[in-house]
Amino acid sequence: MLTQRSKLVVKREMSLTERLYLPAIFNGLKITISHLFKRKTTIKYPEETRPVSPIYRGLHVLKRDEAGAERCTACGLCAVACPAEAITMVAEERKPEETHLYREEKYAAIYEIDMLRCIFCGLCEEACPKEAIFLTDRIIPSTYDRDSYVFGKDILVESIEAPVDVTKRQTQEVLEFKKDKKHYHNRTFNDAIKKSGLSGQK
Ligand code: SF4
Ligand code: SF4
Repeated sequence: MLTQRSKLVVKREMSLTERLYLPAIFNGLKITISHLFKRKTTIKYPEETRPVSPIYRGLHVLKRDEAGAERCTACGLCAVACPAEAITMVAEERKPEETHLYREEKYAAIYEIDMLRCIFCGLCEEACPKEAIFLTDRIIPSTYDRDSYVFGKDILVESIEAPVDVTKRQTQEVLEFKKDKKHYHNRTFNDAIKKSGLSGQK
């Protein structure tokens, strides 16, 4: 015996009160009835929702820039960072007449997140170099249909008329943190080369 934690279990005879079961039933009822008068911890979701923090990790948004063009350049870093393999996308090249629609020369023609796979870790937001994807304090609506949980650009891209406010999570401190080259995840390939002292490589 490596530890002294094990105990010998003895099956003892039940007393007369225990064999009657009635005291146990009354004790159970007492606990149930006492809960009727306590403050309820449950709510009638989805009719009711609880207030959440402004930096809650809920439904994603694909942001537009100040001119209304989509910021996402379909680089795929969010998909690579996603531990749940929830993100898929198809990249396309921007046409000259589409400069007002997409900020970069490459854009996501299809961008989908499977909300049933997503674990709302926020790694896609951290990985994005273009400040294009953010999680928000919006709750994902519930439904009985699994297919409708694959959210495409029609749901994810913010509307020009009603932009989604992400200032609470994209504070100046966060922006500086994301640029600080002291942190390994902020270093580019060229930074790594410079730090290693190797030269002659781009
Ligand atoms: S929040 Fe996490 S799990 Fe969800 S899409 Fe982003 S990286 Fe993937
Ligand atoms: S959301 Fe960001 S990381 Fe993801 S593909 Fe678009 S630009 Fe790249």
